[in-house]
Amino acid sequence: MDCIFCKIISNELPSYKIYEDDYTIAILDINPINPGHVLVLPKVHYGKLSEIDEMEAIPIFRTLKRIEKVVAESGCTGTNILQNNGRDAGQEIGHVHFHIIPRFKNDSFRMKYHKVNLTNEMLEYSKKYYISKLK
Ligand code: 5GP
Ligand code: ZN
Repeated sequence: MDCIFCKIISNELPSYKIYEDDYTIAILDINPINPGHVLVLPKVHYGKLSEIDEMEAIPIFRTLKRIEKVVAESGCTGTNILQNNGRDAGQEIGHVHFHIIPRFKNDSFRMKYHKVNLTNEMLEYSKKYYISKLK
């Protein structure tokens, strides 16, 4: 499989690795939104979040939480956790990963969107749909 992140995990490609355990690694984003931008990845190749085995999700969240704390205490004034699934959502690399982005007052990072107004019926429809799928 031609996956940049799998090659980083197997050390075929270099990276600025800051953390590694049996299930996850964390590396610096080579083209960061802000200095200190970290990517957390599972060692097993999964394309999207929905493909991750539930038990394997636990160590990923542990790493994410641990590193977010270190980033949050590194001198920034906030953090964003970002995780893109699919090209339309901005996913460039098809190996699931979480961004930990340090934030600073008046930095350049913007998530631009227009919010939509929904009727109660539309909200009820979504609520019923999700509840039925989560049973
Ligand atoms: P995505 O858009 O898929 O959520 O995020 C992919 C991220 O990976 C981008 O922020 C991009 O800068 C970063 N990236 C792309 N290629 C490499 C690489 O070879 N090494 C590292 N460390 N980061 C990369
Ligand atoms: Zn991969």
